Amino acid sequence: MVQEDLFKKIIAHCKEYGFIFQSSELYDGLSAVYDYGQNGAELKNNIKEYWWKAMTQMNEEVVGIDSAIFMHPTVWKASGHVDAFNDPLIDNKDSKKRYRADVLIEEYVEKITDKIKKEVEKARKRFGDQFDEQQFIETNQRVIDYRQKQKDIMAVFVAAMEAGDLERVRQLIVDLEIACPVSGSRNWTEVRQFNLMFDTKLGSVTEGANTIYLRPETAQGIFVNYLNVQKTGRMKLPFGIAQIGKAFRNEIVARQFIFRMREFEQMEMQYFVKPGDEMKWFETWKERRMKWHLALGINPQKYRWHAHDKLAHYANAAFDIEFEFPFGFKELEGIHSRTDFDLSQHEEFSGKKIRYFDNESGESFVPYVVETSIGLDRTFLTILSACYNEEKVGDDTRVVLNIPAPLAPVKVAVLPLVKKDGLPELAREILDELKFDMNCQYEEKDSIGKRYRRQDAIGTPFCITVDHQSVEDRTVTLRHRDSMEQERVPMDKIAQLVKTKVDMKTLLSKLV
Ligand code: ATP
Repeated sequence: MVQEDLFKKIIAHCKEYGFIFQSSELYDGLSAVYDYGQNGAELKNNIKEYWWKAMTQMNEEVVGIDSAIFMHPTVWKASGHVDAFNDPLIDNKDSKKRYRADVLIEEYVEKITDKIKKEVEKARKRFGDQFDEQQFIETNQRVIDYRQKQKDIMAVFVAAMEAGDLERVRQLIVDLEIACPVSGSRNWTEVRQFNLMFDTKLGSVTEGANTIYLRPETAQGIFVNYLNVQKTGRMKLPFGIAQIGKAFRNEIVARQFIFRMREFEQMEMQYFVKPGDEMKWFETWKERRMKWHLALGINPQKYRWHAHDKLAHYANAAFDIEFEFPFGFKELEGIHSRTDFDLSQHEEFSGKKIRYFDNESGESFVPYVVETSIGLDRTFLTILSACYNEEKVGDDTRVVLNIPAPLAPVKVAVLPLVKKDGLPELAREILDELKFDMNCQYEEKDSIGKRYRRQDAIGTPFCITVDHQSVEDRTVTLRHRDSMEQERVPMDKIAQLVKTKVDMKTLLSKLV
């Protein structure tokens, strides 16, 4: 399927089956803000549970907190967000569309990657079995030139951003002849910095209200609670604090469904270590996080590592896990080694000591931090992108979401074949047993075929059909979503059979 079509289909499917609705749709919607419907909320909660348990339950030294969205305004001065949480924006004078200058340049560089891929594929066809991709990339003059061009562009861009030279960034866009995708023109305004934080007022305005910010990341709630958790939890280094919560960013370009939202959710973990140990832990967390993704069973080729071209001034290492969304490889998660920057800043701005006292060495110091930061909504989109499938079944096509069973919104649908002869009662009996352990649905409307399709479309891994034979011998049909296979199973075996498959443990056990 063409990837663009796939993306449109996923968006339509999300709406039709109660996963995601545009916020305030009744009033024509609010741009880049979304509501999760009945199935979306379940899937989202299950992703959260998978992450939370993987972080806290599976790692003895990681604990979770839930800090407030509103924080003291000085937090954002200390963290650097007031002065430097900016994106460079540029407008096209003809279409009046606004773009992120860095994204325009990165997309241009990505297009060169596509050209390299085409050269590689052409050569693969020409050379057949003897083709050595690595050697080709290193020796083919056209590919060498393409790669050099990419390096040169990024070098100019990074140097200009580091020097705060926005005119140079604009010149680069002009020199590369980048055109507006809407108007096709190269009629650009100057590049300006735009702060992404939303502000609001605390207290009534007449009382002399304070300007506060909606947090643009959850991490600062962890940093300012470092001492509280360390002391009350009697935590010893290394240890981590995890958190899931909303974050808000006034994104300039917000056109990719739930990939880039103005209100979204993050799942972040800050891991506090002894200075000098950070690279070891950075590597460990890179490995742990990739394992978490791969345990979902999605094609591993859809994930790749991306090293940051431009490190934040306080970071000494940063990698992203990118995922191949229908619109290309994009950031899903960041793993960053942030040194002692944040805690030291909070020491300075609060005037209070934020130290760790090491009993063994008798020293006290500000810990270093390795963080893992993943977008919950982006994870949701990876799962939908990878699990949405259209399959030919006879003359028919079925749409099925092959979501990993522990994450599926509904685990089991219980379906009486007809609405009479004691079948609904028997179906209810099964439901009443299962509902304590998992989210189930009872459906008696429409033909059984239609009911199966509806359950496939929301990703329900199991359907249990109760028929006349069930009344006689207390056996039922268990239908498997992915294979569509059906088996006859005694009613008293159902709970155990299904439970082992849908239990979060099936994912978590792949992490050890
Ligand atoms: P991008 O470069 O895509 O803007 P970022 O580098 O600013 O992302 P971080 O600040 O590292 O992102 O945030 C950590 C994670 O939070 C990201 O990897 C992403 O999954 C998620 N995230 C960030 N911004 C958004 C957004 N506007 N909408 C949805 N998720 C987001």
